[in-house]
Amino acid sequence: MTSILIACGTQKSASPTAEDFDYTVDKFADIEILRYRVPDFDSLSLKQKELIYYLNQAALEGRDILYDQNNKYNLLIRRTLETVYTNYKGDRKSADFERLTTYMKRIWMGNGIHHHYSEDKFIPEFSEKFLEASIKSLEPELIAPLLQPGEKAENLIQKLLPVIFDPTIYPKRTNQADGVDLILTSGNNYYEGITQSEVEAFYSKMKNPGDSTPVSYGLNSKLVKENGIIKEKIYKQGGLYSSAIDKIVYWLKKASEVAENEKQRDVINSLIKFYITGDLKVYDEYAIKWVQDLDSQVDFVNGFTETYGDPLGLKGSWESLVNFKNIEATKRTEIISSNAQWFEDNSPVDAKYKKEKVKGVSAKVITATILAGDCYPATPIGINLPNANWIRAEYGSKSVTIENITEAYDHAAMGNGFNEEFMWSDEERKRAKEFASLTNNLHTDLHECLGHGSGKLLPGVDPDALKAYGSTIEEARADLFGLYYVGDPKITELKLLPDKEAYKAEYYQFIMNGLMTQLTRIQPGKNIEESHMRNRQLIAAWVYEKGKPDNVIEIKKRDGESFVVVNNYEKLRTLFGQLLAEIQRIKSTGDFEGGRNLVENYAVKVDAALHAEVLERYKKLNLAPYKGFVNPVYTLETNKKGDIKDVKVTYDENYIDQNLRYSKDYSSLPTFN
Ligand code: ZN
Repeated sequence: MTSILIACGTQKSASPTAEDFDYTVDKFADIEILRYRVPDFDSLSLKQKELIYYLNQAALEGRDILYDQNNKYNLLIRRTLETVYTNYKGDRKSADFERLTTYMKRIWMGNGIHHHYSEDKFIPEFSEKFLEASIKSLEPELIAPLLQPGEKAENLIQKLLPVIFDPTIYPKRTNQADGVDLILTSGNNYYEGITQSEVEAFYSKMKNPGDSTPVSYGLNSKLVKENGIIKEKIYKQGGLYSSAIDKIVYWLKKASEVAENEKQRDVINSLIKFYITGDLKVYDEYAIKWVQDLDSQVDFVNGFTETYGDPLGLKGSWESLVNFKNIEATKRTEIISSNAQWFEDNSPVDAKYKKEKVKGVSAKVITATILAGDCYPATPIGINLPNANWIRAEYGSKSVTIENITEAYDHAAMGNGFNEEFMWSDEERKRAKEFASLTNNLHTDLHECLGHGSGKLLPGVDPDALKAYGSTIEEARADLFGLYYVGDPKITELKLLPDKEAYKAEYYQFIMNGLMTQLTRIQPGKNIEESHMRNRQLIAAWVYEKGKPDNVIEIKKRDGESFVVVNNYEKLRTLFGQLLAEIQRIKSTGDFEGGRNLVENYAVKVDAALHAEVLERYKKLNLAPYKGFVNPVYTLETNKKGDIKDVKVTYDENYIDQNLRYSKDYSSLPTFN
């Protein structure tokens, strides 16, 4: 949906308030594209704005890297579609052209041919014939940049068709299914011509088990076998992806010149050194400096970071996020961190499983200024880095909540009919409207800053004792810690919530989501697999069952539809406390059987009738289950002498224009790398 404001070309003001901001940008397939505000950007100093501008540029320059990492044909497909889209001479209102537009938008959303969340390859709704004819109708000079030396348009078409249309080619981006070669069956481009066992042998030879400060082997390279020889192609200047990395380094150098302080300059310079050398020891030096820079207001992530895209968890996908600290909101996480010991001491957990001394986590609330690479268009709402375990243990980690993104989610959800459809009465809806944003953020803070860090293992207990159930139990533990304390009088005493009733908004939504509405994301006939979803159902289903004698929670029927009703919030809080105590016991003692019973009995199975009902009701609302974002546009304002006078933020770019602009201005990689 394009807003009227955009259609008539009115430029939105630089500091719009949440109320007069239009959060919705576009909608296609199962995706809705939103925009986000950057509140208080104008309150930053000129130097800070300049720093952000350069870091933003460095962020956008990495875009092509992720496309190529996700699949070796992604850049070719994106460039071909964009060329057709921009130069198409046929009927731009035809069904086929609209389908091509949708497919191109989906490619941008997934940074390639696979769905960003399910990671399945999606197949376009236009025909092979249509694509073929569209490519052939292009002027030769438009096709030329898409061809490899010696190729003709016909070769290009023969190369593209199977990758785009054949469901058996690259069916999944990252294959996690057991029992097959995960490298050969994954569609991404971290490995080539090599089997899983060869990869495992290659890296296990590198590792030294006695090393207490191991580098993240394989993080910044593609592993290939060429003429029988296995070698790493390192992502660095002069190595793989050099032309994009050159640009990133160029902008990082500019950023370094306007750093806020010496510590931050050192952080940026270490990152530059890493991009130049590709040396993972240098990367760790950079990560250690980065995690210790707590004074700078501007901060960033830029590099080969998360390893979810590699089935073996070695290769880092490129991402960047630039941000500045939201000083007002960070007071909230600081209050929580500074009371960490009180929360630990007063939790309902058995004393022998508690930490005698809690180490506060450095946590802050941030305002994102740009999302890029694996953070764009879909983005996390919280990040906790660095990933290297030994650095986390020795130097700690930084945990952030990206509040201008959660704000966009919350506002976009307002008035979309979801609460009207699924909440029991106006009482719940009113409370949600008034408090849900606040309590949601607070629950996330408690989960991240305290929940994961609370409790301890008994001596000799293996941290991996719960095996495949470990991550569900761990998420449940952190969620329960947060739920228990959101409803504690201490929270209003610390002025973290304005009202003694506010916590009920979080409780109701949590239970409604865990018992019912999260099922909208599950395909009919399937069980729950994802560990965060399992954890939510585990908690909701357990307290529902245990609260039955006191009628704490009911599922009531009205006109044949089911609704969650919470009758006793205080008792519900007691039940959260009981489950927290039990889950902490399971974790602390490594009780595998206990963990398995909880997960298998409460977290996995889906009530088929309720599931069908929820899906039916959700479908009527015509909502997109996944969200992506467009970034604001930043412009340098200079005087006649070329001195920078200001950096302006505008919010009127739509999804298509933004992605076409990025492809034009920030695309330095060759089509094949
Ligand atoms: Zn968590």
